[in-house]
Amino acid sequence: MLTEKVALVTGGSRGIGKAIALRMAQEGADVGIIYAGNEQAAAETLEEIRALGRKGAMAKADVGDYAQAQDAVKVIKEELGPIDILVNNAGITRDKLILRMSPEEFEQVVRVNLQGAFHMIRLLSPDFVKKRQGRIVNITSVSGLMGNPGQANYAAAKAGLIGLTKTVAKELAARNVTCNAIAPGFVETDMTRAMNEQTLEAALGSVPLKRMAKPEEIAALAAFLAGDEAAYITGAVIPIDGGLNM
Ligand code: NAP
Repeated sequence: MLTEKVALVTGGSRGIGKAIALRMAQEGADVGIIYAGNEQAAAETLEEIRALGRKGAMAKADVGDYAQAQDAVKVIKEELGPIDILVNNAGITRDKLILRMSPEEFEQVVRVNLQGAFHMIRLLSPDFVKKRQGRIVNITSVSGLMGNPGQANYAAAKAGLIGLTKTVAKELAARNVTCNAIAPGFVETDMTRAMNEQTLEAALGSVPLKRMAKPEEIAALAAFLAGDEAAYITGAVIPIDGGLNM
């Protein structure tokens, strides 16, 4: 249970982030979400958090922009109080084979998926260190572990996020702050809905469990890592991929 905790979920307006926000609210946490621009989706998630009897807050920011991330954290802390749990879930893809990928497309994906997580950790870890308590959960991907054609930018960002996770875990362990990564395979969200149907079908063919994950399955693991029972887990990268990466 996450009673009396405050969680901040980036990309909490849709998909996996929304499922994590709602799961944490179900477990008793107040939840702030950061979204990039889909205000209606963010407002709906906020409604659902409040319908669960918890406090909620939302702030618009591009997490890849440090000043915007800083403003969003300020808004959420003003509404909900000090944050106990950070979930770095905001992410984008700009898939293209390396021969066609522009430097801008590479930079954009690394900026949101990797630098965004750094910004959030940089902004919240002083509070975690002061309280001698904090949980960081980073959403990486099997692409970061295995590589994936068409995803040089995304796989590099997600592999970088694993290095960031392990480093933060080592730096902050003495202050009772844990930092772990979840590496999903294919999950039923707008991100996979945007994929070419044939590519997706072929990809699912190599998943031993022969289906995609539901966002709620990722959310259950995120809530576990944020809870008391996971106090001795840090620096871990946990795949949740139907067996894809084995
Ligand atoms: P999604 O449905 O496309 O939702 C993306 C979320 O991130 C939205 O809430 C979006 O906000 C937010 N976002 C995007 N860019 C942002 C930015 N610059 N600053 C702040 N927020 C931003 O994605 P998803 O499938 O749920 O993916 C969530 C995470 O899981 C990502 O990190 C993704 O890489 C990872 N993942 C997904 C899969 C999969 O199969 N779906 C597999 C492995 C890993 P708006 O609603 O405002 O646009």
